[in-house]
Amino acid sequence: MSAILMDGKALSAKVRGQILEETHQLEQRGVRPGLAVILVGEDPASQVYVRNKEKACAECGFYSEKYVLPTETSEKELLGLIAELNQNERIHGILCQLPLPSHISEQAVIAAIDPKKDVDAFHPVNVGRILIGDYDFVPCTPAGVMELLDEYNIDPKGKRCVVIGRSNIVGKPMGLLLLHRHGTVTICHSRTEQLADICREADILVAAVGRAGFVTPDMVKPGAAVIDVGMNRVDGKLCGDVDRAVAEVAGYFTPVPGGVGPMTITMLMKNTLKAARRAAH
Ligand code: NAP
Repeated sequence: MSAILMDGKALSAKVRGQILEETHQLEQRGVRPGLAVILVGEDPASQVYVRNKEKACAECGFYSEKYVLPTETSEKELLGLIAELNQNERIHGILCQLPLPSHISEQAVIAAIDPKKDVDAFHPVNVGRILIGDYDFVPCTPAGVMELLDEYNIDPKGKRCVVIGRSNIVGKPMGLLLLHRHGTVTICHSRTEQLADICREADILVAAVGRAGFVTPDMVKPGAAVIDVGMNRVDGKLCGDVDRAVAEVAGYFTPVPGGVGPMTITMLMKNTLKAARRAAH
């Protein structure tokens, strides 16, 4: 079998087009969605992510501000900037690119962002709201996965869904979103026993491990939808957590690059639009 490729790049372009239209409508009511992105330090991967986010803002017609701060910035200074942005009416979404230098507490920074501007959905208030199923902002990567599933008419309802990875930003919220959509969810991690057997039961398998080629064809149920969240660099080349040979067994799969990655940034734009719409009311 040769799987259907789930094209995150094409879906992203479509959704960004819809967001641009809504931006124009909001502008007529005097509100232009605004996103502030903060980068502390010189992590090269973070610099690329921030550039891509700026580009996405431009495509969606958003106002954006970028703050590039030196590595030695103190936690107090960063919290001061966030406090200012919380008050800034032009800014509807605030994003502080992670990871932060080790002398700054990520938890303190996340908690300082106004939950109404927390477009990453990392603030404990928003995390709690996701848990109870009453949320405005959805964490961007899991949200992007859900949009891809919807686009390809893959309904988690009643299906066996397996997520490999239990991080706060991907694995756990991913499991919750699938559960809210009535999937029967198993979350696996590094201590899971018989991981391959569990994966083989999955109708929807999401890999968020951070290990190139971790999911091999023998771990996949024929016809399953396999979603590859992984972004790994091997010899300078970007590759996912799923071995490409899985496409011969799966029914659907997401490529890397061009699958979940572009959707993640698009969902950030969607959350910012949502925040701006709320401000307009
Ligand atoms: P993370 O915080 O490092 O979490 C990785 C998870 O994988 C952990 O829960 C870990 O288990 C589990 N794991 C590691 N080795 C395992 C093994 N041998 N067997 C089973 N589980 C194992 O990573 P993350 O932030 O969730 O990101 C995961 C991947 O997604 C990375 O490649 C990252 O770059 C990528 N990512 C992509 C996007 C995107 O937009 N496409 C966004 C975010 C992240 P333990 O909890 O037991 O340690």
